[in-house]
Amino acid sequence: MKILSTTLFVVVLELICLVQITVPEKCLEYISPFYQKTRMIDCPMIHSKDSKDKRQTSSKSDNMITVDFQCLIDDKQLCKKVEQVFITAGKFITATLNLKSIISVNAQFLDFCKTYGKCDKDVIILGAAGPARMIPYQDPKENKIRFYPQALYKQMNFPIEHPEFGPNEIMATFNSNTSYWFEGDPLPMLEKQSDMLYVVIHEMIHGLGFTTSWDDYFGIKALTPAIGGTTKPPAPGEITSQSDELQSSQFFELISDKFLVLLPSGKLVSSIADEINKFQFKIETLSSTDGIASAFSASPQFPVAKNMYNTAMTHGAMGFLTIPPSDQLTREQILNNVIILETSLIPYQHGSSVAHTDFDTYVNSSDFLMLFTYPKTATLGQIMSAVGSTNTTGPIGPKLRLLLGSLGYEVKKEYTPPVKLSSIPIKNYNPSNTYNKNNNNYNDMNNSSFICVNIILNLVCIIIIFFNSIKSLNLSGK
Ligand SMILES: [Zn+2]
Repeated sequence: MKILSTTLFVVVLELICLVQITVPEKCLEYISPFYQKTRMIDCPMIHSKDSKDKRQTSSKSDNMITVDFQCLIDDKQLCKKVEQVFITAGKFITATLNLKSIISVNAQFLDFCKTYGKCDKDVIILGAAGPARMIPYQDPKENKIRFYPQALYKQMNFPIEHPEFGPNEIMATFNSNTSYWFEGDPLPMLEKQSDMLYVVIHEMIHGLGFTTSWDDYFGIKALTPAIGGTTKPPAPGEITSQSDELQSSQFFELISDKFLVLLPSGKLVSSIADEINKFQFKIETLSSTDGIASAFSASPQFPVAKNMYNTAMTHGAMGFLTIPPSDQLTREQILNNVIILETSLIPYQHGSSVAHTDFDTYVNSSDFLMLFTYPKTATLGQIMSAVGSTNTTGPIGPKLRLLLGSLGYEVKKEYTPPVKLSSIPIKNYNPSNTYNKNNNNYNDMNNSSFICVNIILNLVCIIIIFFNSIKSLNLSGK
């Protein structure tokens, strides 16, 4: 616990640096998506024409995703198969989004057991990924600074002067210590396998921006956005160093957080961030995060954050708006323009709760991709075929397309499958009874360092697969 507090405090301090200038010239980068280790990096404002990033010119029209791939295992044959999956995943994303510039993914394939000591045989982490760099941007209308994944920032029509970009848009790591099914392998796939293509596309969508900053940063069962700090904006003509003083600390949202709503009320979660931001604190006056945590626990904003924590454990209580956020949404708008998020996991799970779509609602629909866990028992090709999306939307379902469009991506109107995946029909495809989400495994996970190290920023999804509940499967695909 001691180590945890220290880690959190370091991160909190880093985040202060992150935004302590009024026009932030600091960005956030991941060093390791698995441990969610972040570092602060200077990203001074530069002019687009001075940018060294000329990747836009080297695009291939059917695949706008490039991969810096490090295969850290001995099996070169397997390395080749994995690399091929990235190419196929890039084609599926490019068939859905009209990307204006190349997206570069830094990907690793390695043994999580050997490298991270994650050797659990019942709950296996398949992969973790997130945006490689988050770029601050102040919305001129709202006057709010929110962080954009670099991949998304590049798609927007923002001023040509922008914080300097990093070499990659997405950072991803995949576990070699599990058995994957690859295109061309025999069907049906084995019970304990997962289709690598599903996992890679899923993680890339997180890297594109399907994520949230809301998390229990203080470890007090209360959700807040990420913690940062602001400085006093300099008065006109003021050049004194006074403006560098930390004015106050603050909670910061990601652009995706702007679209979160409570259900069924339709209340904007961003307005809750504003309420929580009434908590005024100066991190440097408090000796540790424990100090901030106890000050926050005693504040009138604590019940609000506590309520958010409980909401994140109430099925169907949060959604992602696919129309412009507004305080005056009608009942119909809320009903018809929301993607229900995963808020049924008990206890709350960092990296899984909120930042996924509701398992029960979408597992058996065209929007099966962004579930917190692999839907199992079938390959991507088989799932698409079972839910009827092979030729309509492919892996990225209609609601997910709307979500990506809301974030700012240009979604292609037509979908043409870029690759034909092999498939044999599954009779009575019904994976919804596969999991007991109040699984004891979760309690085990909660006590493990996996959860502890996962506290920094909830930007990274960790997709897992359960093995002990496999016996309850009731499928007839073989
Ligand atoms: Zn995920």
